[in-house]
Amino acid sequence: MTEDLATQDLAVAPYGRKTQKAPRVSEVHVLWITAGLGCDGDSVSITAASQPSIEDVILGAIPGLPKVHLHNPVLAYETGEEFLGPFHRAARGELDNFVLVVEGSIPNEKLSGEGYWAAMGADPTTGQPIKTTEWIDRLAPKALGAVAIGTCATYGGIHAMAGNPTGCMGLADYLGWDWKSKAGLPIVNVPGCPVQPDNFMETLLYLLRQLAGLAPMIPLDEALRPTWLFDNTVHNGCDRGSYYEQADFAQEYGSRKCLVKLGCWGPVVQCNVPKRGWMAGIGGCPNVGGICIGCTMPGFPDKFMPFMDEPPGARISSNAIMPYGAIIRRLRRLTNTTLNKEPKWRHNRPELTTGYRGD
Ligand code: SF4
Ligand code: SF4
Ligand code: SF4
Repeated sequence: MTEDLATQDLAVAPYGRKTQKAPRVSEVHVLWITAGLGCDGDSVSITAASQPSIEDVILGAIPGLPKVHLHNPVLAYETGEEFLGPFHRAARGELDNFVLVVEGSIPNEKLSGEGYWAAMGADPTTGQPIKTTEWIDRLAPKALGAVAIGTCATYGGIHAMAGNPTGCMGLADYLGWDWKSKAGLPIVNVPGCPVQPDNFMETLLYLLRQLAGLAPMIPLDEALRPTWLFDNTVHNGCDRGSYYEQADFAQEYGSRKCLVKLGCWGPVVQCNVPKRGWMAGIGGCPNVGGICIGCTMPGFPDKFMPFMDEPPGARISSNAIMPYGAIIRRLRRLTNTTLNKEPKWRHNRPELTTGYRGD
């Protein structure tokens, strides 16, 4: 499909208004670069998605979606130049409709100095490695949209922490937070280390629907995260919330109580993992005994360190609710004891009323 997407209003349509002319794009390539500094954990993670699954999207099982061709080095059957073919074609401007997905932190050689930290393939004319930053420079201006998957690609993550020599950064720091694709879409960030599988696939599904003219502009927060996935805190969805409310705090791992004293940052971290679980609704950091260390947040990891220390703000708030929590716990224990007894007008005395005498 060669229509000029720059002239279309699909991305600038105000949220909620039906100004798009469907269908827009009938075929989309997803060019997925894992050549940032990372561990490929996000590519592995999405193989567990089910809402939708990657198979459903690729095999066209979802009505209305464009035909999707996925090019991901971890999941592809092709290798070497055969795999790189679509990337080269896209860079030359021969692949009209593609979405760029970036996984891994982007090492910016302008900051790190001589040499390079990450590359994918080699330039056929010079034989030199093509740096990750070169791929992004070549592909981003031609992409319909750009998605950063995982915390490394969104905000730099572990590779961008204080003292790193790599010049690593997230996609929006590299391209600019106001960057827009040729179709008018902003960068979409889906953080998490790794990304929650359904969070990414749901976001991709949304973008594909938007490109097909079936959805309004994707709603994003100021950190470019989809709002419907990231507007609640971990604490809002945590199974241990009632323990927090009663100031009933775990003192060691293995307890079912609230983990705030062990270093959980859940009250101030935006993430839906405790609600959604990791795979098929199962898991979700604090639900299964792991403290939240804020991996979906732009300030991760530096602002959450040292891990496993009680967060300073949590010390104040948890200490403040201690007296209230202790009273509430005692009152609830009393009420619970009462509720565990039948009302006094019920016959619950030892005498039998059946006439059964045991002979
Ligand atoms: Fe790996 Fe986490 Fe970075 Fe993803 S965000 S590449 S899972 S370290
Ligand atoms: Fe909140 Fe963490 Fe306690 Fe859960 S474990 S209730 S997220 S502080
Ligand atoms: Fe990361 Fe916390 Fe969400 Fe777990 S609950 S995925 S540590 S932000």
